Formats: sequence, C-alpha cells, structure tokens
Amino acid sequence: MTSVVIAQCSFCSKPNTEVETLVGGPGVFICEGCVQLCVTVIEGKPADAPLIAPWEHDLPLEQVLSNLSPVAAATAQVQQNLAAWVGKARSLGGTWAQIGQALGMTRQSAWERFSGEA
Ligand SMILES: [Zn+2]
Repeated sequence: MTSVVIAQCSFCSKPNTEVETLVGGPGVFICEGCVQLCVTVIEGKPADAPLIAPWEHDLPLEQVLSNLSPVAAATAQVQQNLAAWVGKARSLGGTWAQIGQALGMTRQSAWERFSGEA
C-alpha cells in the first residue's frame, strides 16, 4: 500500500491507502472488498433474476435520497478522471481537434470543457 491517495473505489469510496488493490476501469475503480461482495452477489443470484436498473427497484424515499450523494461522488470522480486523461493526451502532443474527435465533440467544445481557459 502507498501512503499517497491516487484514487478511490467507485463503489465504497475507500482510497487506495486503505485497500490492498484498486482495479481501474474507464474512469472508475473497484477495491478487492467490493470485488468480493460482487462475487457473493453473483454466486447468490437466482438464474432467473430479472435485470432491472437499481433505481427501478421498489425503494423508500430515504434510501433513494441516500444514494444521491454516492452517485454524485462517482460522477465527480469520473469527470476528474476524464480531465486527467485529456491532460495526458495534451502532454503527449494531442490537439484539441484530436481530443474532440475522440470524445465525439468539436475541437471548440473540447477546449472549452477541458482547457481551463474558457
Ligand atoms: Zn470498494
């Protein structure tokens, strides 16, 4: 474990300093504890369990409200991660046109969103 916080689990919010391993995905991370929880859920899942979005479950308002902050935190993490990747592309000589094309937006939109100069 390192003592420097580099990233945090997108599921439980634990930083890399509090877990053994963080596995990175596209803008997200998952720790070994959450992977184990996922394995338990997958193994215990009935074969005919319907796939529905988490917010489609019958939930009380308090639980829905308590989910908003973690979802917003994960969203912020993904946005920060995207900005870091764009910064990496820039440091490698990537143009705003190339970055915009990769993101499906115009050069101008990419510059306005990520340059910090807009
Ligand atoms: Zn976790």
